[in-house]
Amino acid sequence: MKSHEIVRRWLDFFEKKGHQVVPSASLVSPDPSLLFTVAGMVPFIPYLTAREVPPYTRATSVQKCIRTADIEEVGKTVRHGTFFQMCGNFSFGDYFKEEAIAMAWELLTTPVEAGGYGLPAEKLWITVYKDDDEALTIWRDQVGVPAERIQKFGKKDNYWSTGQPGPAGPCSEIFYDRGPAYGAEGGPAADDNRYVEIWNLVFMQYQRGEGTGKEDFEILGELPKKNIDTGLGMERLAMILQGVENMYETDQVRPVLDKAAELSGKEYTSAETDDDPHHADDVRMRVVADHVRSALMLISDGVTPSNEGRGYVLRRLIRRAVRAMRLLGVEEACLPQLLPASRDAMKGTYPEVEADFERISRIAYAEERAFLRTIASGTARLEDAVKESKAANKPLSGEDAFTLHDTYGFPIDLTLEMAEEAGLKVDEAGFRKLMAEQRARAREDAREKKAGHADTSVFKHLLAGGETVFTGYDELTTESTVRG
Ligand code: ATP
Ligand code: MG
Ligand code: MG
Ligand code: MG
Repeated sequence: MKSHEIVRRWLDFFEKKGHQVVPSASLVSPDPSLLFTVAGMVPFIPYLTAREVPPYTRATSVQKCIRTADIEEVGKTVRHGTFFQMCGNFSFGDYFKEEAIAMAWELLTTPVEAGGYGLPAEKLWITVYKDDDEALTIWRDQVGVPAERIQKFGKKDNYWSTGQPGPAGPCSEIFYDRGPAYGAEGGPAADDNRYVEIWNLVFMQYQRGEGTGKEDFEILGELPKKNIDTGLGMERLAMILQGVENMYETDQVRPVLDKAAELSGKEYTSAETDDDPHHADDVRMRVVADHVRSALMLISDGVTPSNEGRGYVLRRLIRRAVRAMRLLGVEEACLPQLLPASRDAMKGTYPEVEADFERISRIAYAEERAFLRTIASGTARLEDAVKESKAANKPLSGEDAFTLHDTYGFPIDLTLEMAEEAGLKVDEAGFRKLMAEQRARAREDAREKKAGHADTSVFKHLLAGGETVFTGYDELTTESTVRG
């Protein structure tokens, strides 16, 4: 079943159940506390928090999402994209647990000929919050899921809140068992590669009080109006229904992956584990396919490359795609080949990416060219440094790596890789030390400027070490951009 059809069936099903079909909001979050729309519920926050009265009590949508917090997982797990589409159904003080669970089960297990997704009931596993006996009972006694396929989890996995006072509540998730070839038996608790999370049902029923973060807080009482917020990963369902190995091989992503393979002359083999010699290259192709699509969709929604905020995320995505192509052995500009492949795969659902392609591609291609120029100018400086270091029989110094980063915009991983090609080690510790010193100076400056009101949350990450470019984007209330 193609992605387009999955979406159509979703909206049809919930429309028939009395839901208002609401078009996807922009990737640029309509909620000011977030950079990006990270979940289907984001456009409905005013209704879910009872700040506004909703014009309907049931809604359904297929929401474009960006989760940069998942960037390191892309291509390595089978299920994390920086861009994905979240199918959702919502109740604002209307139906609650029983109906939400019953509808989810009905849609997933109704045969394809009868309008559903036709998943075999015995492949579905359920998780519930450990104290949510109500949900457990509904799944077991009303839906008929055998008790051994229902697992209990604690707050970390199965409790939702924004991290601040407001609505909160337990959630229940549906997982699909891909079978023994994909990992150990034992349900979601045992193996998250074999048992893939597909759908999260959030039951907003309590009022949360003060407390720290997502696990340690008090519950003040029941909400006067209880809400339902659910999210199913469209690409994850597509991966199952299309019988492919991961979300990057589904119909809206695969064409870009194939183009990356064609341009690099490398064979794509669906390698899953890093003991497979094809793994590194396969991950790169999956990263390219994911990031190119995210860039396409972000620019389509009005984001342009820059050095901060959303624009910086876009810049990093394009640079990472270019870097991955370089590691696949392609040094020329690739976006003029990759971006149209992504456009053609996405335009069925999002005609605007075709209508606006002239503008989108102009921005993307210019950014790629600028990065290739950066690489070219830094390369001459790097080659000099390599020559000198070799003559002195020393590793490339931390100072050199720092200058390349600071003056030439040369990412450290590029320096490492190119030095290695030249048979040279890099004083990485020295580089990190200089970076830390620079950050400490920046922090001092910020402190002075803000006279003690600096937001130190950002620096905690930096002091913890390493490049922390993408952090916390899927936190609903505490998004921040950190430049590495
Ligand atoms: P995971 O544990 O696999 O990272 P999650 O618990 O973070 O997923 P939720 O926040 O519950 O995900 O989001 C609801 C649904 O959206 C998930 O059940 C999944 O199907 C989908 N989803 C979440 N993150 C991604 C992603 N990065 N790429 C594709 N689909 C995703
Ligand atoms: Mg996640
Ligand atoms: Mg999860
Ligand atoms: Mg989840």
